[in-house]
Amino acid sequence: MKNLKPFNGDAKKEYKDAVSRMPRNSVSRSRLELIEDDIETVYDHYKKEFDNSSLNDVKIHNWSAKQKEDLLSLYGYHKKIIRNIKNNITNQQIMTIRSTCQNCTIDSVNTMDHILPKIAFPEYAVNGYNLFPCCSICNGYKADITDHSAFLNLFIDELPSVQYLFVEVHDNIDCLNFDFFLSNSKGVISNSLYKKIENHYTNLHLIQRMKAASLTYLAEFISTNKHYYKKLGRESIIEAVLESIDEDRRAYGFNYWKCSLKLALISSEVFWNYMDNLCV
Ligand SMILES: [Zn+2]
Repeated sequence: MKNLKPFNGDAKKEYKDAVSRMPRNSVSRSRLELIEDDIETVYDHYKKEFDNSSLNDVKIHNWSAKQKEDLLSLYGYHKKIIRNIKNNITNQQIMTIRSTCQNCTIDSVNTMDHILPKIAFPEYAVNGYNLFPCCSICNGYKADITDHSAFLNLFIDELPSVQYLFVEVHDNIDCLNFDFFLSNSKGVISNSLYKKIENHYTNLHLIQRMKAASLTYLAEFISTNKHYYKKLGRESIIEAVLESIDEDRRAYGFNYWKCSLKLALISSEVFWNYMDNLCV
């Protein structure tokens, strides 16, 4: 999970261009043209609160039912304005995270999440600062909860470079069993940020989703390392895995789930006993 650089285009111009692409004689277009000044004002307001990291202060606007409908009609994942916004955001990120949803770091980006939900805030349905490239699974869970502060906003909430995602490897005779868990045991992360991290993981079901994703990954990890373990021994494996964790943390984020899993495995006698049994 890494922070994303936010949209850096001209949100108001993108909006106006989208309206101007609507059929010339359509009633919706005429109605949207009438509120262009209002949209400029609310877009400036959003940007100010975004820059102050205080999106909680963005107020709900009293649009008519028809205006809401018109504003929402501008959005569509495959529409030009959304493609422009998605390209603008994606092209600013490092290659390693471009196609993976950073809300979960498990599934691929295939939708745009509205940070302030579009039903309550239809005026920001196509505002670049309000859109976050996301997977449909995270987006589905987010749709169930209208309070945006129940999730990390990875444009704004700065992720800490200390470990908060851990893995416990359980002593189990026949198979390697483990569980992910969160901890701020060193107390380095501020209470408010840690609470947000906990909410984000809970509301997106990340502990369970990471465990499910780990099963395939664990099989690959064991099969790759079994070969080298026989030849080179434990210390060499530990050294190589620690190096790969350093690299992965830079590429995918300090608390990338594969890093926490690898770190726990190489620190666990249960894992090494398992490897010994495999290698006899
Ligand atoms: Zn996701």
